Amino acid sequence: MIIKPKIRGFVCTTAHPIGCEVNVKKQIAYTKKQGIIQNIAKRVLIIGSSSGYGLSSRIALAFGGNASTIGIFFEKPETEKKTGTAGFYNAMALDKIANQAGLYSKSLNGDAFSDSVKKKTIKLIKEDLGQIDMLVYSLASPIRQLPETGKIIRSVLKPIGKTYTSIAVDTNKDLIVKANIQPATQAEIKDTVTVMGGGDWELWINALLDANVLAKGCKTIAYSYIGTEITWPIYWNGTIGKAKKHLEYTASLLNKKLSTIISGSANIVVLKSVITQASSAIPIMPLYISIVFKEMRKKGIHEGCIENIYRLFSQHLHTKKTLSSNIDSENRLRLDDWELREDIQQNCYKIWSNITSENLKELSDYSEYKQEFLGLFGFGLKEVNYEKSINLLEIK
Ligand code: NAD
Repeated sequence: MIIKPKIRGFVCTTAHPIGCEVNVKKQIAYTKKQGIIQNIAKRVLIIGSSSGYGLSSRIALAFGGNASTIGIFFEKPETEKKTGTAGFYNAMALDKIANQAGLYSKSLNGDAFSDSVKKKTIKLIKEDLGQIDMLVYSLASPIRQLPETGKIIRSVLKPIGKTYTSIAVDTNKDLIVKANIQPATQAEIKDTVTVMGGGDWELWINALLDANVLAKGCKTIAYSYIGTEITWPIYWNGTIGKAKKHLEYTASLLNKKLSTIISGSANIVVLKSVITQASSAIPIMPLYISIVFKEMRKKGIHEGCIENIYRLFSQHLHTKKTLSSNIDSENRLRLDDWELREDIQQNCYKIWSNITSENLKELSDYSEYKQEFLGLFGFGLKEVNYEKSINLLEIK
C-alpha cells in the first residue's frame, strides 16, 4: 500500500510508519546531542506517551537520563487496509530503538481513564521496576469514560459567559476567517473539567500509593498551558482553562498528600504552545502558533516539544537553585517563559491585528505550521520515500 495523507479538518486519518520512526529518531538525536541529564528520575511512568509532550518526555528521560520508562497511551494499531495512528507508530518505534539501546522501555496501549489499565500498569511496575520515581501526566483527550458508571463524557473547547469572535485560519483553505464560538453551557463546563481536569490524575496517584509502587521522594508532574491575552478567551478563560485550574487544585492536594506520605511532590508544569494533535484542534491556536513561532525563531529562542521538554528536565526539574526562580506564586513551574517574553508578545499583538489572507505567509510561519502538522503523522519528510509500497502488517 502507498500511504498518503488524508486530512479531515484538523486531523489526518492516515499515518506513515516510516515517517513516524524518523520523527522519533530526530528527537532522540537532539536529546543525545544535548548530552546527559544529571540527577533525573530513573524509573518513570508517562501517561499520554505516544505523541506531543508525553513522547518528548519519554525520549528526554530515556535517552537523556538513561531512565527506564513505561508509557501509557490510547492508539489504534493498523489493520490490513487502514494505517495505525501516528501515536501507535511513534510508540512502537520508541520501544524498539530504546530496547536496542539496552534501555528498559515498555508500553501499554489502552484507556488510561479505566481501572483495568491502572491495574495492569501497577502489575507491570511491580514485576519489572518494583517502584517508580516519577509520574508524568501528559494526557490530552476529548472524551473520558467514567470508570464507576461507564458513562462517556465529552469535553468542549468553548469560551465561558459570552460568544467569542476572533480571526482564525481555515487550515483547509489557507484563508483568514472570522470565528464565532458560542459560550459553553454549565453542563459543558462541568464535563470538560471531568475529562481534562485533575480527577483522573488523582485516581492514578491514589492507586499507585495504595499499591506501594511510588518510591520515597517520588515526583509527579502534569502539563498545562496558560497562554496570552490573544488566546485567553478560548483557552485560559474558557472551558479548557477551567479544567486546567482544576488540575492545579489537584496538584496542591497531591503535593500535600505525597509530601506527607512519601516525601514526594506534585507540580503543574506550564509548557509553551507547540504543534500537536491536541493543539491543532483548538480554535485560533494554529494562527497564534504560526505567528509566535515566527517571532521566537527571529529571536533565536524557538522551541518545539523536545526542546521545551529537554530544558525542563535538564535545567529546572532537578536543580534546586533554578527550580525556585521558575516557580510562580501558584507553585507552577514555568517553561512558557520565553514565549511570554514581552518583546515576543508585543510583536504577536501587532501582527494579530494586521494579518490577512494575503499576508498570512509573510507575517507568520504558516507554511512551516502546515509542514509540521503533516510531519506529526509522518508525512512531508525528506528522509522518507513515500512512493514505496508498505505492507502494513509487516511493520515491526
Ligand atoms: P497529544 O495529542 O500530542 O498527545 C496526547 C496523548 O494522550 C497521546 O499519547 C494519546 O495517546 C494520549 N491519550 C489520549 N487519550 C487517552 C486515554 N484515554 N488513555 C491513554 N492515553 C490517552 O497532546 P499534547 O499536546 O502533547 O498534550 C499533552 C499535555 O500537554 C496536555 O495536558 C496539554 O494540555 C499540555 N500542553 C500542550 C500544549 C500544546 O501546545 N500542545 C502546550 C502546553 C501544555
